[in-house]
Amino acid sequence: MTQDQVRANIVTACKRLDAEGLNRGSSGNISVRDGDNMLITPSGVGYDVLEPQMMARVDLADDAGGYDGPLKPSSEWRFHRDLLRHRPDFNAVVHTHAPFSTILAIARRPIPAIHYMMAAFGGTDIRVADYATYGTPELSVHVITAMEGRNGCLLANHGMIVAGPDLTRAMWLAGELEALAHQYYHALAIGGGHILTDAQIADTAKSFESYGIRSEDPS
Ligand code: 13P
Ligand code: ZN
Repeated sequence: MTQDQVRANIVTACKRLDAEGLNRGSSGNISVRDGDNMLITPSGVGYDVLEPQMMARVDLADDAGGYDGPLKPSSEWRFHRDLLRHRPDFNAVVHTHAPFSTILAIARRPIPAIHYMMAAFGGTDIRVADYATYGTPELSVHVITAMEGRNGCLLANHGMIVAGPDLTRAMWLAGELEALAHQYYHALAIGGGHILTDAQIADTAKSFESYGIRSEDPS
């Protein structure tokens, strides 16, 4: 895929987040690995006016976060860069303030295995990354910890992150995480429901391998 295609795909994905109610305003950000760099959405730009040439290109090896582009990269470039550095299985990272994910993040409630779709996230729960001010190195450390062995997490009093082997998969996970959060929020209202066992989630993860929904990097 050419760099131009990646830029265009990021714009399309951002507009989809808005259209599907997974994000609002200029909140949220998306990055995609591009060789030794990442392409990331600019900071503070609403997705309605976003254009492919506005993406910032950030060197993954540069601790200072130097970039090429007409606009500053997302304020969250650190956790995007650190996830892409630490996790070779990730090539795309999506961060949003999706409503139900954010409600649970405000309550600092991890999501347990309330539904078999949890198996798509690499484990038996969705953790909540500890709170730190947005854009800080501290937040990035908390994100790396919460994402250990997982494809998604909540961010305390902030939102959620998902990541995958490509942008298509990461976008799919964004919708699935918000669906789990939506389901859990309502299940809590009627007492919390039953939680699947570790063995039941492991069985589902195995079954996904031949279903076409992969819990591992398919690339
Ligand atoms: P940016 O506009 O800088 O990407 O920030 C939005 C956001 O969600 C910060 O957490
Ligand atoms: Zn945010």
